[in-house]
Amino acid sequence: MSPWFGKAIILASSIVMVVIRAPHGQRSRGVKVVRSSRGPLEIVLLTLAWLAFFVPLVWVAAPIFAFADYPLHPVPLLAGVVCLAVGLWLFARSHADLGTNWSITLEVREKHQLVTQGVYQTVRHPMYSALLLYSLGQALVVPNWIAGPSYGVAMAILFAFRLGPEERMMLNEFGKDYEAYMERTKRLVPGVW
Ligand code: SAH
Repeated sequence: MSPWFGKAIILASSIVMVVIRAPHGQRSRGVKVVRSSRGPLEIVLLTLAWLAFFVPLVWVAAPIFAFADYPLHPVPLLAGVVCLAVGLWLFARSHADLGTNWSITLEVREKHQLVTQGVYQTVRHPMYSALLLYSLGQALVVPNWIAGPSYGVAMAILFAFRLGPEERMMLNEFGKDYEAYMERTKRLVPGVW
């Protein structure tokens, strides 16, 4: 199959992702941050995540990663589209459920409320699940050994370093309520982990 199928899908899904996040980014700028746990490591990891987000788009636009291309097949393409679609749906739902409590980094905002409803009912980090699912979709749709897995690798590193500190921050903020929430939910995969 022509790699242009993968290129068109990645271009469209990247645009959808930006469109989903943009209004939340804009709105969150208007809500005061009262406590920040963002350290130098978090800044490095977020920069890495941003760079990794653009790697597939560079692959779409220029041939610099062409040496790592491989043929695209319909089955992984289809599976990838399903992962991207479900990932984007969950990404939109988790933003909607978090509302003004959302931050791109580890922050507590003014009038921060613990969200335990909607997609937060079964897992504590549905937005990270969404990004991992999206990354898997990207790896399946982009037939290139560098551009395909780049975002997934960056996300896996970011979340490996972030989940612990984020949950500690939430425990400090919400104490027993977050403890009880932890007891009845999993981290990323409903009923598994
Ligand atoms: N880890 C969550 C949220 C990602 S956004 C997810 O994957 O869905 C990161 C910010 O969301 C954190 O800085 C924290 O302030 C906030 N947050 C995380 N879990 C929350 C919850 N259950 N309720 C309210 N805010 C939450």
